[in-house]
Amino acid sequence: MCLPSCPTYQETKIERNSPRGRISLMKAIAENAMELTPEFAHELYFCLGCLACQSACPVGVDYKTLFEASRQDIEKSKVLNNFFRLTARTLLIKFLFLSPTRLRTFGKLLRLFQKTGLDKWINGFPFLPQKLREMALELPPIAPRFSFELISSHEIPSGNKSLYKVGLLTGCVQDLVFPNINRDTADVLLHNGCEVFCPPRQGCCGSLHAHNGEIETAQQLAKALISAFPVERLDGIITNSAGCGSHLKHFAELFPKGSEWRKKAEKWDQKVYDIHEWLVKIGYSIPKPTSLTIHSIRVTYHDACHLCHGQKIKNEPRKILKSLPNVEFVELKDADNCCGSAGIYNILQPAMAKKLLLKKIERIKETTASVVCTANPGCLLFIQKGLREQALNQQPVHPISLLAHYYRLTNQDSLEVPQSKV
Ligand code: SF4
Ligand code: SF4
Repeated sequence: MCLPSCPTYQETKIERNSPRGRISLMKAIAENAMELTPEFAHELYFCLGCLACQSACPVGVDYKTLFEASRQDIEKSKVLNNFFRLTARTLLIKFLFLSPTRLRTFGKLLRLFQKTGLDKWINGFPFLPQKLREMALELPPIAPRFSFELISSHEIPSGNKSLYKVGLLTGCVQDLVFPNINRDTADVLLHNGCEVFCPPRQGCCGSLHAHNGEIETAQQLAKALISAFPVERLDGIITNSAGCGSHLKHFAELFPKGSEWRKKAEKWDQKVYDIHEWLVKIGYSIPKPTSLTIHSIRVTYHDACHLCHGQKIKNEPRKILKSLPNVEFVELKDADNCCGSAGIYNILQPAMAKKLLLKKIERIKETTASVVCTANPGCLLFIQKGLREQALNQQPVHPISLLAHYYRLTNQDSLEVPQSKV
């Protein structure tokens, strides 16, 4: 039943590239019927980790757990190790994403690199590896200010009408590239009576690490994040990034049963909400039509895999979008098919990622929508890239940025849709 839902199998029609094929291989290795080979490792890194198979499986096979455990075994076995891979993983996963200070310093350097035009200049050096030159050109613009410069550590709704106390997670990539979405999220929460706690020194949630076989590092990051928030005092801990949310709700699974950290993580898990889920739960206020919302806009929505499959959240973002005045919501065909971004998959498997992106862009074109909403920074960036390559002018926007925009319309005189600024 899961085969038709699997994007890699849909493309290749090879059993090995399907969930069923991958599960058989993982089972054979777990039962010592097969050795862990580089071919197996490549197959597991050819999987997007999109979890569409998990949604499709009628008997509830927990693909996520099998997949993460297998990637951990692959990294322990070192079958894929070579100098370049080891250096890149150590630098990125174990050094950069481990500390918010390092990541922001790196972000500032990248910003300078882009501002001075060095990214384009590098392209003129044919002796540099082509991959490096392409990557420099494709880096998303780093925002002029990061989340901690846009959001105070504690913000109170106007008129002191605080109904809930919530923590706001600002993410890692989201913080460097889309801090405006974090600001929009804080504004939407304040508008709905939520007092917002946003620790300035919060780091990566570790989902990148858990999906790439680095469980010890994922544990370290989970501990740091739990310690950064006053969990006991909060009604909810809010994330606006699908990929993070899917991991943030399962911190407890990272720690041994009965351990102190397991207990702390269980309390944390119970309080994590995706922003759409939270807003629908508390009965968010629907923006009122004003003279500025008379023009209708056509909006479509791409389901980020880790929101629809990882967290089973499909209706809430649609409900919010459909409630906006004069928004004509059009369904995207195959909305829950992966766009190819999938964390760092688009860098590791560019050919397959490109095929999936092209399909997604075709579907977006069919809708004739002027705004494409999606709730994950990776999807926003990748869809933006696909639209740009075909010179299309649809705007990718986070649904919460659109909601914040409609709240602000009551005070402003512009009907421009917020740009995702990529
Ligand atoms: S996670 Fe996605 S790509 Fe991997 S087997 Fe499942 S459906 Fe296929
Ligand atoms: S049991 Fe589930 S995961 Fe296994 S082949 Fe059937 S649908 Fe796929």
